[in-house]
Amino acid sequence: MRDLSGGPRVLLKRLRELMAEPLEPQERLDRIVRQIASNMVAEVCSVYVLRADGVLELYATEGLKKEAVHLSQLKMGQGLVGTIAASAQPLNLSDAQSHPAFRYLPETGEEIYHSFLGVPILRAGRSLGVLVVQNKASRNYREEELEALETTAMVLAEMVATGELKKITKPGLELDLTRSVTIDGDTYNEGIGLGYVVLHEPRIVVTNLLNEDTEKEIGRLADALGSLRISIDDMLSRRDVSMEGEHREVLETYRMFAHDQGWVRKLEEAIRNGLTAEAAVEKVQSDTKARMIRLTDPYLRERMHDFEDLANRLLRQLIGHTGRSTAEGFPSDAIVLARAMGAAELLDYPRTNVRGLVLEEGAVTSHVVIVARAMGIPVIGQAAGVVALAENGDAVIIDGDEGHVHLRPMPEHQRSYEEKVRFRARRQEQFRALRAVEPVTKDGKRITLLMNAGLLVDLPQLAESGAEGIGLFRTELQFMIASTMPKAEEQEAFYRSVMKQAGGRSVTFRTLDIGGDKVVPYFRGHEEENPALGWRAIRLSLDRPGLLRTQLRAMLKAAAGTELKMMVPMVTEVSEIRAVRELLQKEVQHLSRFGHGLPRKLQFGAMLEVPSLLWQLDELMDAVDFVSVGSNDLFQFTMAVDRGNARVSDRFDVLGRPFLRVLRDIVRAGERNDTPVTLCGEMAGKTISALALFGIGFRSVSMSPASIGPVKAMLLGLDIDALGAVLHEALDDTKPQHSVREILARFAESNNIPL
Ligand code: PEP
Ligand code: MG
Repeated sequence: MRDLSGGPRVLLKRLRELMAEPLEPQERLDRIVRQIASNMVAEVCSVYVLRADGVLELYATEGLKKEAVHLSQLKMGQGLVGTIAASAQPLNLSDAQSHPAFRYLPETGEEIYHSFLGVPILRAGRSLGVLVVQNKASRNYREEELEALETTAMVLAEMVATGELKKITKPGLELDLTRSVTIDGDTYNEGIGLGYVVLHEPRIVVTNLLNEDTEKEIGRLADALGSLRISIDDMLSRRDVSMEGEHREVLETYRMFAHDQGWVRKLEEAIRNGLTAEAAVEKVQSDTKARMIRLTDPYLRERMHDFEDLANRLLRQLIGHTGRSTAEGFPSDAIVLARAMGAAELLDYPRTNVRGLVLEEGAVTSHVVIVARAMGIPVIGQAAGVVALAENGDAVIIDGDEGHVHLRPMPEHQRSYEEKVRFRARRQEQFRALRAVEPVTKDGKRITLLMNAGLLVDLPQLAESGAEGIGLFRTELQFMIASTMPKAEEQEAFYRSVMKQAGGRSVTFRTLDIGGDKVVPYFRGHEEENPALGWRAIRLSLDRPGLLRTQLRAMLKAAAGTELKMMVPMVTEVSEIRAVRELLQKEVQHLSRFGHGLPRKLQFGAMLEVPSLLWQLDELMDAVDFVSVGSNDLFQFTMAVDRGNARVSDRFDVLGRPFLRVLRDIVRAGERNDTPVTLCGEMAGKTISALALFGIGFRSVSMSPASIGPVKAMLLGLDIDALGAVLHEALDDTKPQHSVREILARFAESNNIPL
């Protein structure tokens, strides 16, 4: 084989000319393999393309028998070619026949070729096919030759990705790039979304692959690397509280990569082989990704993500665009796919167009998920590898009920989901028709249906759902999605716009409930062994009265001239409530001393979430204007089950006798003390548990807006007195035969109540 110095450059130049010529795809491919073979002085050059059915089909060859084209096939993992595609790794063999994976394909006549060099055709770390050169003589291909072939494979990847090869794909078959795949993840929010993929970090498409001037490209790379390093140093030197801990660690890792000589060397080598600086970054990124994609070690996977982020930053430096999709060209039914995402980033998307969210990481309690729930879209988390498998604009269905993501769904799938969505829409239509109907039971009991909220994006749902007001406004969400502590004026402005948008319907603000699983990035407490039982909510607020007083003042000012309703979370002893009341009194005095307007009416309440309050019910009700049961926490503490731990959280039933008896005691105390009692945990939104709540005496509940319709539909046909009799008997039964859940289901069925 002749010396290749300058070889790859000449080859790439020829390929560039070939790509620009108006040729039919088969002709172009044939000429490409001929060109590669001649440039690399190989007797054979072949291209195999991966089909959707997992078969690698010979698409073009120079040197092997022409009749084998579109006939010769290997399964993924089969033979040398299948091994390369499956492992996404090259193979360089001086004696191919002796390799254990070798498989003889008689139709190709390849038995006389001993040396073999094959590379995967990669896109974003994913194999789309294999490019091979072969020689009769037994030899080892040099490192530069391997590099050159990999670089050439990028050009072919582009041909596959642009859909050009589709035209020469046998009828009825699809290429792998368009294969339909289902990825399983965890349900973070229920619902079904049909639409088109929007990659949150869009793959930066490098269209300018081949360079004209190597030195100029090396210079561009050096400049971009320089700016990248400076920007990382800048971020690291910022004295910002939020920069402590993990965030800093990530940046330190970036800095390490950005100075990594091995990486820089590989980039420069790719440029010397004829690529532009951006194509070089893409090539090295794809190679690294292919190598790391199968890693299971979470630490190393995390490092891979860091590396990828860095490579993307470098690409943006080189191409000079921000990488964010613009509103223009944004699909009207977008399903956003991201590895991870901040809550504020989700809010940046045109809200009405986003039909679903899929995350490779994330947790149910993460802020972005809280925001997505507020937006009412289905969410799937822990969907491993989904971003690499998808392309912007691919059709996608997300099934938030079952936790599936169907990428490029098959027509039958598409049809059955469309049917499901139509069915749901019809039900929604029925619920919407109930919006203006007063929630009165068949036996004339008036029920108050309120909704839970925490962000401005929730507010439109007030009118849409027909809720009478907001029974729980989680003020900590404003704090959780901000990168720095919201200032007093920001808090005040926020509460004011919430009340304005509520348009006269009541809003119950809950004071800050941070700590536990609600982490505020710029306010870190100490590591706690049991955060749910730790320094959180009112405990933290009383220890940091400045924080609480700022919030109380912001609420008082925002509600000047109207009614202010507020409540305090996680109360354990009545003395805590008295302490907050004193602070509130001081704020009222302060404001009136300085001539500020005050709320026309102030209602002050406590959340009942900690079991100790069950033995202080009368004192508690004496100290407040109303009580709201936080059944999520009350259940967690009563039953000793961590609400965020899937292994135990469903172990006991909220409709079990112990918990329902607790709730009944609270209702009775409310009646005794003439104190309004409501309940705002998740159970209020499930029709069967709402049925139980009405049966034991609750007349006011607050839930997620999507549940208002179903709960209202349930209560309209309900005879509460009849239900109460059945339920009280069931709760008093000390030797029960049936669970309360069964008894309720039977009652609903025999009374024609939709659950
Ligand atoms: C609850 O605990 O039931 C509640 C409504 O509060 P959160 O879910 O915000 O803890
Ligand atoms: Mg709570």
